[in-house]
Amino acid sequence: MIMPSSSVEKRTADVIIIGGGVMGCGAAYQLSKEGLSVIVLEKGELCAGGSGRNAGGVRQSARDVREIPLAVHAVQNIWPSLGEELGVDVEYVQKGNLRLGRTEAHLEKLRGLVDKNIEAGLCLRMATGAEAREICPYMSEEVIGASWCPTDGYANPFKTAFGYYQRALDHGAVFITGVTVTGLGKVRGKIRRVSTDEGTFEGESVVLAAGYYSRAIAETVGIEIPVEREDEEVFVTERLPPMFDQVLGTAEADFYGHRTKHGSFLLGGVSGLQHFTSNHEGHPTEAYTAPSLVRAIIGFFPAFANVKIIRSWSGHFDTCVDGVPVISAVDEAPGLTIACAFSGHGFGISPAVSIAIKELVMDGKSHTIDVSGLRYDRFTGSAD
Ligand SMILES: Cc1cc2nc3c(=O)[nH]c(=O)nc-3n(C[C@H](O)[C@H](O)[C@H](O)COP(=O)(O)OP(=O)(O)OC[C@H]3O[C@@H](n4cnc5c(N)ncnc54)[C@H](O)[C@@H]3O)c2cc1C
Repeated sequence: MIMPSSSVEKRTADVIIIGGGVMGCGAAYQLSKEGLSVIVLEKGELCAGGSGRNAGGVRQSARDVREIPLAVHAVQNIWPSLGEELGVDVEYVQKGNLRLGRTEAHLEKLRGLVDKNIEAGLCLRMATGAEAREICPYMSEEVIGASWCPTDGYANPFKTAFGYYQRALDHGAVFITGVTVTGLGKVRGKIRRVSTDEGTFEGESVVLAAGYYSRAIAETVGIEIPVEREDEEVFVTERLPPMFDQVLGTAEADFYGHRTKHGSFLLGGVSGLQHFTSNHEGHPTEAYTAPSLVRAIIGFFPAFANVKIIRSWSGHFDTCVDGVPVISAVDEAPGLTIACAFSGHGFGISPAVSIAIKELVMDGKSHTIDVSGLRYDRFTGSAD
């Protein structure tokens, strides 16, 4: 059941999960399905963070090799049947990802990413400008090449997270919203206590999946997670006739986007000036992003020149110092599993992350998917 914090009765569970984003909801589903009792503590509403504001890209390509096992596992084994498993249409479309280049420097960058990804076992290749236009005929002649990963795609972030939430409820998980976690504490040598503005909760294990705010919560037990907050914006166009189904990005990350099931395009990006303007907790958009994004998009896709933008929003995420997540148990804090620092690309891997979290909590290590490169101790110098 979902409960407002004012009516909290249950305060102990096998696992306390902090954060009701896609990671918290996914972990709640996996753990409750195994028969564990689970309480999820969320300071706002479910999906109040990046999980309710992202663009839905399900991308394996152009990822750091340490994330590739999660991305490939999610695409090969989970995304195609996730809707069936959760009993909701997550609107998963697998029609490929083109990352576009307009200069030789862009192509060099793309080739570097492709080579690294191939080495890590991903199936993708470089395409010429002509090949890219054959896949997606609307792009400008200025595109001289692209990376092409035919198994990438996109899905609906809300439906995915709420699907996990619904199924977790079916398995008895309890979600408490409007309760802010303020700190962690040890009981009998293990992290079990979770302090909140509504009193204390206690679990055999604690999962920290509070996005950027995980940093402050972890600090209360001396764990430093090196993340900083990044803001990004998404624009929604009017409904358009079908043009293409690929997810698009660029070598320089000027913008990314795809067409949604109902016909609008979701286009995301930043102006590059976001660190110099005032963006606040309430997620307002900033004045420079729309013009800079629109310029970039029209440069690649002249057909968008007269398309109307009908809606926009911004959101923030937790960018790690080395650009990949922390999915990890912590030697100094037994009982604690960290799942944060997704660095702006966590949604696509979230179904695989939920399995890794479950195994870390239940078995102390992730055996289905190799997440060893994402351990917390990579920062402390104590990694093997
Ligand atoms: C604009 C934008 C576009 C993006 N596009 C993509 C994309 O196309 N593809 C992709 O893979 N990823 C994308 N992402 C990234 C993706 O959204 C995130 O990586 C993912 O949602 C992370 O999920 P999470 O559950 O870890 O974090 P969140 O969704 O941020 O959830 C954390 C939750 O913790 C709660 N919380 C925080 N502090 C506390 C506290 N003290 N007590 C209790 N609860 C607390 C928050 O309210 C929040 O609901 C994008 C992000 C943004 C912002």
